[in-house]
Amino acid sequence: MDLYEYQARELLEEQGIDTPRALFVEDEGQVAQAAETIGMPVVVKAQVKIGHRGQAGGVRIAQDRNAAVTAAADILPMTIHGHRVNGVLVAEARNILHEYYVSISVDRASRDFDVLATASGGTEVEEIAREHPESVKRLHIGALEDFDLEAATRMARSIGFYHADVDQAAQILLRMWRCFKENDATLVEINPLAKVGDPDDEGSKSLCALDAKISLDDNAAYRHDGWKRFATARDADPYEVKARELGLHYVHLNGQVGVIGNGAGLVMSSLDAVSFAGQDQGTGIQPANFLDIGGGADAEAMCRSLEIVLSDPQVASVFINVYGGITSCEQVALGILEAMDELGIDKPIVVRFDGNAAPEGLRILEEAHRSNIHMARTMEQAAAQAARLAAQDKESSK
Ligand code: GDP
Ligand code: MN
Repeated sequence: MDLYEYQARELLEEQGIDTPRALFVEDEGQVAQAAETIGMPVVVKAQVKIGHRGQAGGVRIAQDRNAAVTAAADILPMTIHGHRVNGVLVAEARNILHEYYVSISVDRASRDFDVLATASGGTEVEEIAREHPESVKRLHIGALEDFDLEAATRMARSIGFYHADVDQAAQILLRMWRCFKENDATLVEINPLAKVGDPDDEGSKSLCALDAKISLDDNAAYRHDGWKRFATARDADPYEVKARELGLHYVHLNGQVGVIGNGAGLVMSSLDAVSFAGQDQGTGIQPANFLDIGGGADAEAMCRSLEIVLSDPQVASVFINVYGGITSCEQVALGILEAMDELGIDKPIVVRFDGNAAPEGLRILEEAHRSNIHMARTMEQAAAQAARLAAQDKESSK
């Protein structure tokens, strides 16, 4: 899960990293009050889960209250690189003397943690890396290593922080690392980590985080209370919320064919097969969801899965693609029948089995003589049939 800037700042603040005072507001009516509370000048910043907001006009400095309201009125209706703005952050504007970039992320290739930093921050790191590759330093924190103040100080020095900033930078690196570890993050990025203050007053200068990007590892959500504090009403898809409550790996898409399979790879292929069939048949039928039922494709799991998938009124047919492993297809077949009775399903279901006890499973379904259960030999055939059935339904309901 990616966090909004205002949420990411919260996590940095919890570790004691200095960020300018700021208030998150969702509508224009609250901007004047927020600006008043923060004190002028302020920066009005679009809250979207995408970078390059500055270049897209989503970050504006306002010298007075009216300018802040105007900026917010311009920014709130914006869609930036395909993302609708979810609110604005009204933040205390600081006088920037220098911009650094620092991030900590999971490095899958070397199976440890990557610290990326450059003394020429501000723009996106990809651009910096393209234009000034020599300025970007990359260091590692070993998976089992501890990262202490000494290591952080060494790192801050080699990154190229100005002499006077090294100690503070080391503290920030250490706190970022704590933030990363304690929150099970996959990315903690500060850009810009800005040196702010009055250029003529050495004592006023300090480093603070003006922008933050944090991604959390969804697999760790269970030990953070599901990260409920970061769930925002506007982002929540009601089907996905319910699926999460039921412990299902479900992603809501926008089509008409519900897809249920076991194993993420198999489900992804099934989605492609449905999309392709819809295109091939010229109907524009698309998959309605991703649902990986996992290893335990028993009756209970099948029941919950079908319930979620069919609760989406757009769904006109369901494609069940199971490769029998530890769970045999025989069990899955019984599960499907049980779920159909319990839920009173009348929409067409296309089943494709392979692997452990596939023929037995298919026989069980055949002998049940349900008119809305269809069986197919291959994934492509099953997807084509499910797409056709969904198209027929769409046609007949016109
Ligand atoms: P991004 O474009 O999405 O990465 O948004 P940022 O929050 O990084 O803002 C873009 C740029 O706006 C920064 O690199 C700064 O140059 C500028 N900016 C952001 N906050 C402030 C601030 O408090 N004061 C000043 N002077 N500039 C700011
Ligand atoms: Mn930024």
